[in-house]
Amino acid sequence: MEHCVVAGAGLAGLNTVMALRTRGYEGRLTLLGAEPHPPYDRPPLSKQLLDGRVDDPTLPADWAGLGVDCRWETAATGLRDGAVDTAAGPVPCDAAVIATGAAPVRLPGDGPQRTLRTVEDARALRKALRPGASVAIVGAGWIGAEVATAAAAAGCRVTVVEAAAHPLATALPAEVAVPTTPWWAGAGVELLTDTSVRSVVVGGLELADGSFLAADEVLVAVGVRPVTAWLDGSGLTLGDGVVVDERLAARPGVCAVGDVAAWWSARYGERLRVEHWDTALRAPAVVASTLLGGDDVYDPVPYVWSEQFGRYTQYAGRHTQGDSLVWRGDPATDAAWAACWLRDDRLRAVFAVDRPRDAVQGRRVAERGQPVDAARLADPAVPIKLAVADR
Ligand code: FAD
Repeated sequence: MEHCVVAGAGLAGLNTVMALRTRGYEGRLTLLGAEPHPPYDRPPLSKQLLDGRVDDPTLPADWAGLGVDCRWETAATGLRDGAVDTAAGPVPCDAAVIATGAAPVRLPGDGPQRTLRTVEDARALRKALRPGASVAIVGAGWIGAEVATAAAAAGCRVTVVEAAAHPLATALPAEVAVPTTPWWAGAGVELLTDTSVRSVVVGGLELADGSFLAADEVLVAVGVRPVTAWLDGSGLTLGDGVVVDERLAARPGVCAVGDVAAWWSARYGERLRVEHWDTALRAPAVVASTLLGGDDVYDPVPYVWSEQFGRYTQYAGRHTQGDSLVWRGDPATDAAWAACWLRDDRLRAVFAVDRPRDAVQGRRVAERGQPVDAARLADPAVPIKLAVADR
């Protein structure tokens, strides 16, 4: 490999160039970023940047030391054998990494709607969160919950509209998510579940039942889609993201990583695309291994955290219907609690509320596939690592 082009300058793109250098790659490296600035961290955009604790989320990088040809405001427009195309002309290369992330879904309608993906989105939203302003948030997922937290704290009148029957519906089943609903009311946020939006109109939202919800500001937080349109015609398999193998290779010399990559997981026996920070942080090391001829495999227990309504929540693993649920603590009475999913005697996933050790230890136990003793697991005084069955 003499020249590797990384398309996409988010966390995954940055960590890919760093991992290549750390693993001894000395050839040319070019990083193409569609945005006008160096890579920055996105988690603060819905948290510390909205409440003013952080203004500049730029990720630290020693660009001179890394020896990377950085081209900001330069989107990759196509990929073919031997080159990545841009509006400024082709960039010849013998390896390419696709790290173009994901972009928010927008709703129909000609009313003004905000989404939250870039630092510019976050700064503009912060300004819009004026005391007394009515804010409608569509979607009660991780981002919707975090923005509702910040908007309520800023003194806005906040209504969250959710099509599902409970918040965090794509991540959690009802029995675990419903106990989180009092958090919303506790922060003064009105949560409308089982409520679909037809369109965003001037002055608010038109709901599916034909009614109108007035709002000064509308934020749409209903999910993201992988950014792959620029790869049409590349010959790569594009489904829900760029289809890659367990080494994150789409074909020899081409890898995909981060929110855009759909990799094969032997652990779960299915293809996964995980839109969380931990993937963009860790998977680039596997890309570097693959491009440099190593045989590292990316097959983690996925992990996400969220800070909402004064609570630190973490989910590690992957549960499926039919897994049995074990509670550690009682959400009705305990401020901190966790829910664990077991299949037979193996820990599949954990959702922890203000119990960070449960998330860390649970993830490790799930990763190792160790059997656990359900009775000990159900005792919140017993650390999860000590619930591993002795055999
Ligand atoms: P991105 O961060 O999307 O970076 C991709 C980059 O590629 C972008 O800069 C994009 O402009 C650029 N690009 C796109 N197309 C092209 C092109 N054709 N050519 C060149 N460049 C291109 N995860 C958690 O686990 N916990 C959290 O609390 C959390 N909070 C979040 C809060 C917000 C507001 C957001 C938006 C995300 C949050 N996430 C969180 C998710 C996490 O930030 C993402 O999973 C992570 O940023 C993905 O990194 P990435 O590099 O794959 O993609």
